[in-house]
Amino acid sequence: MSPFSDPLALQTGLFIDGAWRNATAGATFPVENPATHEVIARVADGSAEDAVLAIEAAGRAQAEWSKSTPRERADILRRAFDLVIANTDRLAAIMTAEMGKPLAEARGEVAYGAEFLRWFSEEAVRIGGDNTTSVDGSTRIVITKEPVGPCVLVTPWNFPLAMGARKIAPAIAAGCTMVFKPAELTPLTSLALVDIFKQAGLPGGVLNVVTTSSAASVVEPWMSSGIARKISFTGSTEVGKILLRQAAENVMRSSMELGGNAPFIVLADADLERAVDGAMKAKMRNMGEACTAANRFFVHRSIVDEFSGKLSKRMSELRVGNGALDGTEVGPLIEQAGLDKVETLVADAVLKGARVLTGGSRPEGPGYFYAPTVLVDVPADSKLMDTEIFGPVAAVTAFDSEDEAVRMANDTAWGLVGYVFTENMDKALRFSKALEVGMVGLNTGLVSNSAAPFGGIKQSGLGREGGKIGIDEFLEYKYTAIAG
Ligand code: ADP
Repeated sequence: MSPFSDPLALQTGLFIDGAWRNATAGATFPVENPATHEVIARVADGSAEDAVLAIEAAGRAQAEWSKSTPRERADILRRAFDLVIANTDRLAAIMTAEMGKPLAEARGEVAYGAEFLRWFSEEAVRIGGDNTTSVDGSTRIVITKEPVGPCVLVTPWNFPLAMGARKIAPAIAAGCTMVFKPAELTPLTSLALVDIFKQAGLPGGVLNVVTTSSAASVVEPWMSSGIARKISFTGSTEVGKILLRQAAENVMRSSMELGGNAPFIVLADADLERAVDGAMKAKMRNMGEACTAANRFFVHRSIVDEFSGKLSKRMSELRVGNGALDGTEVGPLIEQAGLDKVETLVADAVLKGARVLTGGSRPEGPGYFYAPTVLVDVPADSKLMDTEIFGPVAAVTAFDSEDEAVRMANDTAWGLVGYVFTENMDKALRFSKALEVGMVGLNTGLVSNSAAPFGGIKQSGLGREGGKIGIDEFLEYKYTAIAG
């Protein structure tokens, strides 16, 4: 038996119509600790048949759930927030065991994810509407908002609690029912979160969860069911495109939080200490496994050596190890494929002329660890300039003119976030405007928080999560024309 099953009270089943159950075929799949390769639990391996049961439950529950009052929904979210906070240590331990991030970061994610529950508990009672008249004064126009209907939620493994919370909370606030498929690499945190919603009093059928080792065989039946009215997806651009094609068939509302290729620009006048601090956060949060991670560093030639030297020193001092151990600052990558990808990208850049200032290798022993790495003189044709690295590798390139920095930053199909470091207000505003992204970090390496409309442009996605407009993704506007 897993050492985690007792103290952490792991849920490992499917959750359909308000009850935990096994997969219909009784199948399970293993969840591995990426620091040790230990199998920490086996989780129900849902099939297409289970998927149908789940979407039918969500469909049945929608009519009643649409009638729930805003205050009821707000209270459920608020109770869930309190329970998540009360369970911080347990949730963080589960997250670290299945995902690898250091415990301190896992606790940080619990707090960050919980905030979406509190934020949307506050938004649930402020959905409101509008009231106006036609321009000729002949008609009164009353605008109301209604839940979109049953939603398909699909989340990635890198933020196992926050990505689920950021979708489930606005869906509950808006009055939508859901079918939810968490990432197969990190299902345990999501299942613990779902159990918290059960304890918080969420009615049966509102939130249904199917874990599976075969994503397409569960999600495709949901997309083609004709019951689901919306898809909210966070993951790769590649899978996002597949789901958008499937969404087209039933003309489903679509929210897509896809990949990024964030530029991190340091202008000649930047406060270097601040820029290095920002770089450490933008690069190393979550071991670099974040769509918001700084992927390409563009630094003015006059300061590039000093910046790279300071960054390299800070990176080399980080303690890499099992995230469950005290003092660990950098955990393992999620799986062998991620590690192979990072190794290949670094080898390609070095072959093309990049120099390694620190790191550039993986340590001996078990676990998918990679050393924090700084590469300089990274040529523009290196694969990592156009690939999400998703690992602890900072690739630094010098620029001479600010126009060149903007051009290089925008030379990508993605447009999620860009970071700019400068002490000059005029330049700061100019860069914020010129960057083709949905979010700008100005003298900060962190852009994610519940009050902000998170999201990207270009191939980084559609729609926004969080902030005042986050709930709109789960609402339809209806207007009634009243003859005046
Ligand atoms: P990542 O590269 O971060 O793992 P993915 O886009 O592969 O991103 O995965 C994000 C989520 O999408 C996961 O829950 C995964 O299981 C799911 N997924 C992967 N392939 C498909 C698919 N063909 N259809 C639906 N969901 C998928």
